[in-house]
Amino acid sequence: MFVTALRCLRCGSEYPMDPNAYLCPKCGPGDRENDPGVLDVQYDYELVARALVQGGHVMSRRRGVFRYLPLLPMQNEAAILPAGGTPLVSAPRLANRLGLKALYLKDETRNPTRCLKDRATAVAVTMALALGRKDIYCASAGNAAISLAGFCAHLGLRCHAFVPREASDTRLAWLRRYGATVHVSSGNYDQAYGEAEAAAAEHGWYSRNCAFNPFLVEGKKTTALEIGEQMRWRTPDLVVAPVGDGCTLGAIGKGFRELALVGLAERLPRLVGVQSEAIQPLVRRRQGEAPREERGSTLAASIAVRRPRNALRLLAELETSKGTMVAVPDDEMAEAQRLLASEAGMVAELTSAATLAGLTKLAAAEPLAGKTAVLVITGGRPDGDS
Ligand SMILES: [Zn+2]
Repeated sequence: MFVTALRCLRCGSEYPMDPNAYLCPKCGPGDRENDPGVLDVQYDYELVARALVQGGHVMSRRRGVFRYLPLLPMQNEAAILPAGGTPLVSAPRLANRLGLKALYLKDETRNPTRCLKDRATAVAVTMALALGRKDIYCASAGNAAISLAGFCAHLGLRCHAFVPREASDTRLAWLRRYGATVHVSSGNYDQAYGEAEAAAAEHGWYSRNCAFNPFLVEGKKTTALEIGEQMRWRTPDLVVAPVGDGCTLGAIGKGFRELALVGLAERLPRLVGVQSEAIQPLVRRRQGEAPREERGSTLAASIAVRRPRNALRLLAELETSKGTMVAVPDDEMAEAQRLLASEAGMVAELTSAATLAGLTKLAAAEPLAGKTAVLVITGGRPDGDS
């Protein structure tokens, strides 16, 4: 294993690798004014490069998330559902519409439970198996819980899912089909998150919360490693993803930085995060505005996060990549969802369609001619779940 330390994104304290680690003990879970002390996994990139790269190529016969094993916090892969290894699909009609040189869709709907969350779940269940843990929990608007439930079903582990009151019937049906124990909160996602942490502390369950368990974003970052390899190490100009807690786009930013650190990329893409106009705490924060009560509501359930837990990670990656945050209304997401289907043949949930709506908004504000962009289609199920 090539991990050298766990470093707090808030206070900078470093700790030795410990597979049971969660938050920084000094900073803890934070509160309304303070971010949680999320830990970041550090690696010896010289050693990683020697183990992973030869002649400008990745030396690995594996597919999916374990293809990049030296950049993950475990020594061995486990026999779990195959996450990752998703296609990068060209969308020439949408590229023309936006005046781009090329547009690609990273189709995360091809994961086992039809969602990018499976990459984080793959790391969570692999580590839980190694630690002999049988009970895993998560707080989720739906997709992360469905992902955990599916992987637990396959392995015979127990899944405890905490979801907000507004979780759709379709999502609840999937959780029950997979055999999860479902706790429906009387409140929103942020309340469900608090209830999950309280129950887990009482019962000692293993965490599949990306802004709590530091190892999970390592799974999510493989999205970026794959995009780099699929583009033959020609870095795209823009990478666009929906933003809730900040874990996914923060992880993607880390993945591209690591490609540069191991000699597989010469530059970084500009990260573009998209939130709903109704709930946009990270758009405000990126613009230097004071936080305010986010009272609106959106049908884009996966990004309806009023108190983002991995803000520091995302803000640091946005700064490094000279990235930006964009807010779009629900009706523009719905139009983008229709275009993704009608002009690219893509099944995308509303949250994922926000990427196209966000890029369209960006294209109206600045020239994108000659640029190459990737939209991360984080999830979508043909049964119309939003
Ligand atoms: Zn700390």
